[in-house]
Amino acid sequence: MMGENEAKNRIDKLEAQIEDLRYRYHVLNDPSVTDEVKDALERELKSLYSLYPGLFTSQSALARVAGKPLDKFAKLPHEVRMLSLNDVFGLEELEDWEKRIKKMLHAQPVEYFCELKLDGLSVSLIYQNGVLIRGATRGDGYIGEDVTQNLKTIQSVPLRLRAPYPEYLEVRGEGLMSKKTLADLNRKYEQEGKPLLANTRNAAAGSLRQLDPVLAAERHLDFFAWDISQLKNSKIEKFKNIKTHSEKHKLLRELGFRVDRYEKICKTLAEVEKFVDEIGEVRNGLPYGTDGVVVSVNNLEQQDRLGVVGKAPRYMVAYKYPAEKATTVVKEIRVNVGRTGVLTPLAVFEPTLVAGSTISKATLHNMDQIERLDVRVGDTVVIQKAGDVIPEVVEVLPKMRTGREKKFFMPKICPVCSSPVEKRSMGAKNLESSTAYYCTNPKCPAKNRRFMQHFVNVLEIYEVGPKILDRFQEEGLISDAADIFALRESDIKDLDRFGEKSAENIISSINQHKKVGLPRFIFSLGILHVGEQTAEDLAKAFGSLDKLQEASQEEINKIENIGPVVSRSVWEYFHNKDSPKFLAKLFKNGVRVEPHTAAAAGGRLSGQTFVITGSLEAMSRDAAKAKIKELGGKTSESVSKQTSYVVVGKDPGSKYDKAVKMGIKVLKEESFLELLR
Ligand SMILES: [Zn+2]
Repeated sequence: MMGENEAKNRIDKLEAQIEDLRYRYHVLNDPSVTDEVKDALERELKSLYSLYPGLFTSQSALARVAGKPLDKFAKLPHEVRMLSLNDVFGLEELEDWEKRIKKMLHAQPVEYFCELKLDGLSVSLIYQNGVLIRGATRGDGYIGEDVTQNLKTIQSVPLRLRAPYPEYLEVRGEGLMSKKTLADLNRKYEQEGKPLLANTRNAAAGSLRQLDPVLAAERHLDFFAWDISQLKNSKIEKFKNIKTHSEKHKLLRELGFRVDRYEKICKTLAEVEKFVDEIGEVRNGLPYGTDGVVVSVNNLEQQDRLGVVGKAPRYMVAYKYPAEKATTVVKEIRVNVGRTGVLTPLAVFEPTLVAGSTISKATLHNMDQIERLDVRVGDTVVIQKAGDVIPEVVEVLPKMRTGREKKFFMPKICPVCSSPVEKRSMGAKNLESSTAYYCTNPKCPAKNRRFMQHFVNVLEIYEVGPKILDRFQEEGLISDAADIFALRESDIKDLDRFGEKSAENIISSINQHKKVGLPRFIFSLGILHVGEQTAEDLAKAFGSLDKLQEASQEEINKIENIGPVVSRSVWEYFHNKDSPKFLAKLFKNGVRVEPHTAAAAGGRLSGQTFVITGSLEAMSRDAAKAKIKELGGKTSESVSKQTSYVVVGKDPGSKYDKAVKMGIKVLKEESFLELLR
C-alpha cells in the first residue's frame, strides 16, 4: 500500500488528468478523447479516496454527484434579473425591431451578434474565486430555484474556472439534453417499462428539477454558456473593459465554458437573415434542439441605453423558425370552458407526431378562427407546433374533402353546466379575435374548477393540487376558492385516503399563504385579460387593492401597457355583483393583501437570512439590517446553517472565516448593495 504522501501525489495527478479529459471531451468536443479513459481514471481515484478519505475535497471530479436527495429546492433571488426574449417571425418583424432601436439610438450604426437559440432551460451559475458556488433556474426572473447539486452533475459545467478568472462571475446559459441522449434514454426507459420523455426541452427541465442528484446525473445533460451577467473585482486587464456581447463569448470560452460554435457578428440585417437561413438548413441535423437565432445589439453600451421593457430586453430578440407542421383528420370539435368562462374550441384527432411530440388535440382558438379557416369535422387539416406554444390548427385542405364533413356551431348552452352561453364583442383592434363566447353562470363548475386551480397555483399553495380540489368540491367542503381558507384539519383528516399528516400539511400550507402581495393577489383573481405582467403594472400604479377597486376605467386606462379592453375588464371585475362578495369572503377567512410599497415590490429577500460582519462604507450596520427587513429578509448575529448570506465589510471578524468554511455565500459590500437595489 502506498503512503499518504505518495497517494496524495497520485490523486493530484489523476484529478488533473481527469479534468483535462473532461474539458477536452465535454467542452472542446475533441473527437480524439472518449469518456472511457476518464471512467477508468475515476475508478482508480475512487479507490484511492476510499483508502484516504481525508484527502477528498469538494472540487474533486468525484464530487459532481455528491449531494443527498432534497425535500424541495430552496428559492434563490437573482442578483441580476433574468429576462426572457421577445420573438420575431420573419424579416419584416426584424426590420420593425431595427427601426425601433435605431430611433432610440438616434440612427447610430448598430452591429448585430447572432447565436443559436438553444432549446433547454436557462440557468445562472455563480463563481466566487473561480469556484462554482451556486446555480439557479430562471424561475420568475427575480427568484429562481437553487439547483446547484444538479448543475454540478453536468460534465460541461466547470466546477473551477480556468485561470485567469475574476473574483466574482455570474454566467448565464442553457442546460439541455442532446437528441441522441433523449433517444438513448427513451430506449432504456421503454425496456424498463418507464414513461418516456416527451422532448429534449421537457427532459432537460425535468432533469434539472430532480430532487435527487443521482437521477439528474443519469440524464447526461449539457451546458452551453451564452452570457456573462456579472463580473466583479478583477485586477486583470482583459476583464476590465468588455465592450461587446461577442467579447463575452470569447471570455466564456477562455474561462472553460462550452459555447456553441455557431455565432456571427453581422453588420446588416441582410447578413443576419443569411445567418438565419444557413442555420435553418442545418438545424435539424444539429445534435441539440434549436428553434431560432438570438439576435442582439453587440455593443454593450448601446444595450444599456436600449434597456428593458416588461420582461424582455429591447436590445435582443429571438428570431424564430416557422413551426413544424403535420396533417391529420379532425374527428371531433370539442369545447373547453376556461377559468374566465370563455369557450375554446379544440380539434381532436388521432395521435399525430409533430415537432417530436405526439399530440391528439390542437386549439382552434375561437369561432372567428373556425370561420376564417372554415374547419369542419372530418376535414384534413394542417396542425403546427412551435416551441412551447400549444399546438394549433393553421390550415384546412379543402381538396381532401369527401362531402361528409360537418360544420361546427358554438353550443348555445355551456357544455359543463348547461347555462346559457353569451356572445361578447371585445372591440379590440389588435386582438386577433373580436368576439368570444362565455358561459354566463358565475358559479359554473368548470369555471370554478379552473379558477380554483389557477388561484391555488398563483398563491403557491402547492399542497392543494387539482385532484385534492376536486375531492374537496365533491365532498361539499368547498364551493369556491374563498372556502379553501376556512378549512380545518378536522374537516379533512377523516376523509378516505387523507391521513392526519397530509391533512396537517394541507392546512399548514393554506395558512402559510394567507398573506399575499398585491401583484400576486390581482393575478390570482383570474380577471379576464389580466396576466402576471398586467397584475404587476396595476399593483405598481395603484399601490393597494382599495385604490384599484375605486379606480375609474379612465384611470386604469392611463397606465402604460394597458389598453381599453383590459381596463374595461378590470373595472368590470370590481363592479360586478359577485366579486365584492368573493373578496369580502376571502378577507373574512383570513386572507391579507399586502400593499405594494416600494419595499414590498422587492419582498424578494423573504426567506433569506443575513449576517453582517465588518463595517460597511455606504451605511451603518443598523441601516443595513433595517433595509434587509424592509425587503422581507431576516438578520442574525451568528453564522449557522440557516444563514443565506454573510455580508462582509471592512475588517471582517471570524464570521467571515466561518462562512467560508461552511460554504455559505459571501457578499462583498458592492454585491450586497446591488441585491438591495
Ligand atoms: Zn358553464
